[in-house]
Amino acid sequence: MESTSFDALLAASRESARLGQHGAGAAQAEEALRLRSSGEAFSLLALHRLRLGNLKGCLAAGRVAAPLLQRDGLWAELATLEGVQAVACLQAEWLPQGLMHARSAAAAAEKAGGGLAQAWADCRLAQVSHQLGEMARASELFERAEAVSVTLGAPDLQFSILHNRAWFVVDALLSQLPQTVEQMTLALQRLERAQKLAESLGNVHSQGICLLNRSRLLMGLDNAAQSQELARRAAALGHEHALTQLFVGAQAVCVEWMLRQGQVAEALDTLQDLSTALPEADLIGHIELQHLRVKAHRQRGEFEQALNAFEALHALSLRQTKARASLQTWAVLHQDEVEAERTRARRAEADADRMRGLARQWELEAHIDPLTGLGNRRAMQASLPGLLSAVGASRQPPMAVILDLDHFKKINDRHGHDVGDQVLRTIGQMLRTCIRPGDLAARLGGEEFLLLLPDVKADQAFALCERLRNLIAAHDWSVLADGLQVTISLGLAAVEAGEAPWNAADQALYRAKAAGRNRTELG
Ligand code: GH3
Ligand code: MG
Ligand code: MG
Repeated sequence: MESTSFDALLAASRESARLGQHGAGAAQAEEALRLRSSGEAFSLLALHRLRLGNLKGCLAAGRVAAPLLQRDGLWAELATLEGVQAVACLQAEWLPQGLMHARSAAAAAEKAGGGLAQAWADCRLAQVSHQLGEMARASELFERAEAVSVTLGAPDLQFSILHNRAWFVVDALLSQLPQTVEQMTLALQRLERAQKLAESLGNVHSQGICLLNRSRLLMGLDNAAQSQELARRAAALGHEHALTQLFVGAQAVCVEWMLRQGQVAEALDTLQDLSTALPEADLIGHIELQHLRVKAHRQRGEFEQALNAFEALHALSLRQTKARASLQTWAVLHQDEVEAERTRARRAEADADRMRGLARQWELEAHIDPLTGLGNRRAMQASLPGLLSAVGASRQPPMAVILDLDHFKKINDRHGHDVGDQVLRTIGQMLRTCIRPGDLAARLGGEEFLLLLPDVKADQAFALCERLRNLIAAHDWSVLADGLQVTISLGLAAVEAGEAPWNAADQALYRAKAAGRNRTELG
């Protein structure tokens, strides 16, 4: 019951990720985690939190998820998670850690095998490279990843590549760095393609950020009508799906247009409403709004208010710097816990390996008789279908020989059980040396053995039985115990299909015993 609802919640959270409904997705993952700890659930939670702008929460969930995924050998999932962590670090402007996560993503992707995981990892490495100023390397990685996304038909990856490449231009615009018309136009084209992919994927978050960033680029290109239209659509989507960052970002574009069009009072009112709606912790959002407030007051010549707003902006920026530093401190402080978790995971991985080895060993042992090292009844039953289907040159079924030691009870009584065991072991060795490659020998139990002889005629098999019988009867058993003599009786018959494949041989053995022992009977 519990596992059904866990599975259902996990599936729902995954579907929410696909559709970009991250508020719902995070709640589903958290509920699943109340039922059971799971690397996949923590990993989904990390993704949803990233999209909701909760970077610390994303990194925290990721830290728990990584060792669990590693323990279970879920390399593709681990690669995705490390990619998500890399993006979170980039958003927190923590480049070295972002680089580390992107490299871990690449390493996990390599273990996972398959081009898709590796292409995703390339995409993450490209994002980091770009942030580190290695533009050529970034382009090369993006292009390689995009080629794979097209070949393998992975629209979500292609979306991510197109959107990320366009984002660098939008990000520069937001930081007041002038961009050329060519750069903005190329970014816009990429976003238009990304938008179509997001629509075909039905992912509202992706659609929303495409609309928003297109509206920002169109503002850079001075296209008022289209920019405002897209911003309004993005805001509506953000509002409908409780994607606060999207909503505020889109509204900020609308406010900027109000300012450009001289509607300062309206802009300030909207800013006030937005500040109230925005959670206090969303510093990026508040900073964006505060920037606009400074601009609005300056535009109206209200320099004292502009200065006040600027001071508030400065305070917010300081808070953001501190928040980033504290995120990094927190992460470093918890590094030893992560290392401990990783070690635990590696140990669990080794344990799992050993258990698999043991299981294989047990499986093997379950088919082997420990006293003689021959196969047992189970081994014979397991090999029978193969033997029967591969009827060879002779076009006849394999022959079965059942052989049983004569008066073995007396041997035990007279010479002791240990000597009895030695006799059984010696017989085992003799059987092994007498049969041809391809023949099978097993101990059925007690002092009873079975031979299966494919591709042999009855008279040849009979000759083998007699050779064996004489060998055993003539063997010098006195090395084991003074006066020890051993003989066997044998029953020989073709293997029969059905429930009792060596029943005829058994019947023949019974006759051999009844006829005085130390002889072979053909069934
Ligand atoms: P028969 O000629 O009619 O086969 O007589 P038997 O004494 O060989 O047959 P019976 O079935 O009466 O006794 C078989 C004996 O084999 C009894 C049992 O103690 C002995 N035995 C079975 N398994 C082992 C074993 O692993 N080691 C030893 N030493 N003896 C065993
Ligand atoms: Mg016996
Ligand atoms: Mg017996």
